[in-house]
Amino acid sequence: MLSRIKEKILNKERISFEEGIALYNHTNLLEIGELGRLAREIKSGKEKSRWVYWNKNMHLNPTNVCIGRCDFCAFAKLPNEEGAWTYTISEALEKVGKGVSGGAKEVHIVGGLNPKAALPYYIDLLKAIKKEFSALHVKAFTAVEIEFFSKLSKLSFEDTLKQLIEAGLNSMPGGGAEIFSTQVRDDTCPDKIPAETWLEIHGIAHKLGLKTNATMLAGIGEKVEDRIDHMIKLREGQDKSGGFQTFIPLTCHYEDTDIAGKVEPLTSFDKLKNIALIGFSLGLDLHKWGLILVLMT
Ligand code: SF4
Repeated sequence: MLSRIKEKILNKERISFEEGIALYNHTNLLEIGELGRLAREIKSGKEKSRWVYWNKNMHLNPTNVCIGRCDFCAFAKLPNEEGAWTYTISEALEKVGKGVSGGAKEVHIVGGLNPKAALPYYIDLLKAIKKEFSALHVKAFTAVEIEFFSKLSKLSFEDTLKQLIEAGLNSMPGGGAEIFSTQVRDDTCPDKIPAETWLEIHGIAHKLGLKTNATMLAGIGEKVEDRIDHMIKLREGQDKSGGFQTFIPLTCHYEDTDIAGKVEPLTSFDKLKNIALIGFSLGLDLHKWGLILVLMT
């Protein structure tokens, strides 16, 4: 199977679902890594400057109040719970100012699903940021938040996004994708939008000219098949709209979550396999895609 996959990579063909599973089940990590490197070199060249980029950004979480209850989340708080916060616009601006003084060129804004922080609040926030820091790139709001804002405002996804773009939104992060499998979503984050809605919102954002990121959260009880299915759904989404710019493989952090102890954590071996497969061996087009490795200890 591996020699057939290598042949496909050399011929710039895409590998199938079954071949993806075979790669995951292959026990020689070095051979998989070698194929991943080959695929990368064919698509993006050998020169590191063609495939390594650095971006200094800062994170702003305007609120951690969330009506969602995802088993893998250690961030959300109920409105009156100790440690809950919702920043005023000036508090948020002060934090952005500190980031900019530290050299940030981009602000990454995501938060909880807080009914008291609806679309008008975020429009004011984006306008205030752009007024004060016009050169700052604003990457903000997961598809889960976009769906929430649009529901509260009774607007379509497209109109919600148009209003945010007009206020200063430059791109979207890839959070909320988790694992696209319905079964895993039902088990771990039943209130969260289904995969189809996540993909639909990203497709609309691409149509409106926004670049967006994609993620996959591994280690939440999914099977290898679910990971490959996730990557293929993203590949299909990219074929349709072409607006994904990075893929970020995330691993669940269990501390203070309800999922801790209920699922088998990923081994380092699994994490390296994920990296070798994502974006390389599955044939995601790295001329259009980047791969962000969020290095966590
Ligand atoms: S929707 Fe987001 S913030 Fe809310 S519980 Fe789920 S992961 Fe946490």
